[in-house]
Amino acid sequence: MSWQQRIDEAIASRRQSDALRTRQCVSQGAGRWLVQDTRRYLNFSSNDYLGLSTHPAVIRAWQQGAEQYGVGSGGSGHVSGYTTAHLLAEETLADWLGYPRALLFISGFAANQAVITALMAKEDRIVADRLSHASLLEAASLSPAQLRRFAHNDTAHLASLLEKPLSAEQLVVTEGVFSMDGDSAPLADILRATRKANGWLMVDDAHGIGVWGDEGRGSCDAQQVKPDILVVTFGKGVGLSGAAVLCSASVADYLSQFARHLIYSTSMPPAQALALCASLKVIRGEEGMARREKLASLISHFRQGAASLRMQVTASNSAIQPLIVGENSRALGLASTLRERGCWVTAIRPPTVPSGTARLRLTLTAAHEPEDIHQLLELLHDAG
Ligand SMILES: *Cc1c(COP(=O)(O)O)cnc(C)c1O
Repeated sequence: MSWQQRIDEAIASRRQSDALRTRQCVSQGAGRWLVQDTRRYLNFSSNDYLGLSTHPAVIRAWQQGAEQYGVGSGGSGHVSGYTTAHLLAEETLADWLGYPRALLFISGFAANQAVITALMAKEDRIVADRLSHASLLEAASLSPAQLRRFAHNDTAHLASLLEKPLSAEQLVVTEGVFSMDGDSAPLADILRATRKANGWLMVDDAHGIGVWGDEGRGSCDAQQVKPDILVVTFGKGVGLSGAAVLCSASVADYLSQFARHLIYSTSMPPAQALALCASLKVIRGEEGMARREKLASLISHFRQGAASLRMQVTASNSAIQPLIVGENSRALGLASTLRERGCWVTAIRPPTVPSGTARLRLTLTAAHEPEDIHQLLELLHDAG
């Protein structure tokens, strides 16, 4: 088979199973509204859970940072790209989340790849929740270590995998809030099983940070658990992009030596690091608390209304409220019907989710108003 045939066939097979992915160009995609061409939709697709991507104080911090530092960092943090803005952001993060050190990365994908690649050696084992994000599972399966997956949120299964004989180290990997189901991991039980096996725990809290816990410290704070390695990302509730790894001083020193995504990549723009500090200030303050409370009330409004839909909801109390509909074509059909009627929702299909569980992944944000949820529920009732 030639290159061209291989590529054509792969695309054709995706198309045939209604699994072809396409991008939609929009003029605004985060916040309450999504705007495409001249039409405005209620936006139930973005991960901007607190509506901070358009917060005036965050925008102003980015603008002032650009004036002060220019728009690019000019290099890797190991060369000349580690500025006073990056230092301030790392110190703020470490203080907020209660870790000795924080290291900034340009994305959560890069942070997960970097940590797993730098830590894992051939004799080691990674035991990961089966539904962990692609960035975690891909790094784990590319690493020389053994990869075992435990059934979703199943601590007994995790414990049985951890007990299997091994001469070296074990890393347990899970998410705080699962990106495609919206449910939370039983972190205290997972940590207990991990400690019993003398392993380390790594939690990716991409969807919990800013949204859960005291001062928005995330899922781990909410469950009073302190993993050895905490990854937080800034593209969701924090309203920006980028990520950080929270860890001990020695792990941070180690990652500074061996995390290739850190060493061989241009650091985030200093202005973005300042915008991050501004966003964290909002999240930690009274306004952040008000936004979290508003989001919680919208979530409970939605779940009450969704209970009478003929669609399967998940065990989610988070801003991610999927409706599982099964077939790809049904998910696509529903998404397109809702879109025609003014609500922008995304159909998520395999291989992102297990086969036969195509879904509408609805996301709510503090930028929504109660009438938005009401409208969404009415459309879902009609469409269902
Ligand atoms: C979005 C996401 C990532 C990737 O983070 P980016 O900063 O968008 O690269 C990693 N892990 C989880 C669980 C995510 O949902």
